[in-house]
Amino acid sequence: MKNYFQYEEVSLTVVRRLNKKKVFGLLIIVLFILLMILLFVSNIHGKMKEIHDDNEYSAVVYDNIAPEASIPRDDNYTINRLPTLTQVGRDNMNNIYISDEKIAYLTFDDGPSANITPQILSVLDQYQIKATFFVLGCNVVRYPDMVKKEYDGGHFIANHGYSHEYDSVYSSSQAVLQEYIKTQEAIRSAIGIQEYCSHLFRFPGGTGGKKYRTVKNEAKQLLSDNNILYIDWNALTNDSVGHPTEQSIMNDLISTVGTKKSVVVLMHDNASKQLTATMLPQVINYLIDQGYTFKSFYDVIM
Ligand SMILES: [Zn+2]
Repeated sequence: MKNYFQYEEVSLTVVRRLNKKKVFGLLIIVLFILLMILLFVSNIHGKMKEIHDDNEYSAVVYDNIAPEASIPRDDNYTINRLPTLTQVGRDNMNNIYISDEKIAYLTFDDGPSANITPQILSVLDQYQIKATFFVLGCNVVRYPDMVKKEYDGGHFIANHGYSHEYDSVYSSSQAVLQEYIKTQEAIRSAIGIQEYCSHLFRFPGGTGGKKYRTVKNEAKQLLSDNNILYIDWNALTNDSVGHPTEQSIMNDLISTVGTKKSVVVLMHDNASKQLTATMLPQVINYLIDQGYTFKSFYDVIM
């Protein structure tokens, strides 16, 4: 009996051990399955995040994911036009100053403003001209309704960076891109269209000058890598230099337009530029008299 019990005890221990092993094995299998489920879920989540981030990045800098389907477009570009950058747009931009016909692109930097923007818009409306506004992010957040008015009026909303503080903008090429992105976010909020990308930047102060040359050159490449074009100007009224007068505005316009076929005219739209708004009809009349027709950058970046 003793032996039997001993035997039984031993067998029970074996059984217990076996059970323990089985339970342990089962536990391992369950844990393994749980781990697989976890991995699967986190993988899907990761993929979703990737897609989300991608879209976010695409939406921020690229615009190759066509959002047109959900956004009404008007071919007469009176409302809701989304610029898309194609090779044609790039070629157009590279050849912007080559033209058989006389074309004038009126461009207004540094706005919007509460007092000047409505006057400029009103004059443009009278002449039925579509222009391009290189808006400053810091002013877009102050006067979002003005940007919306420009956009709804069929004008092209381009990007002039956020702060216009040279030392900060040109601290690095990445800083330039961040100024672009921050301004783009502000434009999107102002016009209520999250897909909007202008693809067009104007360097504060222009691309010229020695002081920030290296950073500007690096930024040109970085912008290009992110599907962002840039444009300076080849005509101007010097409305932001010194103390312009009605006469100096016209003289500088006439001398810089010269006999050029295609002119990108630089003017300004910030609060202190009353003279720009006042002189705009004369500026436009001069260009009309010289045989120019007017285009916005919607006609370049399509
Ligand atoms: Zn500026």
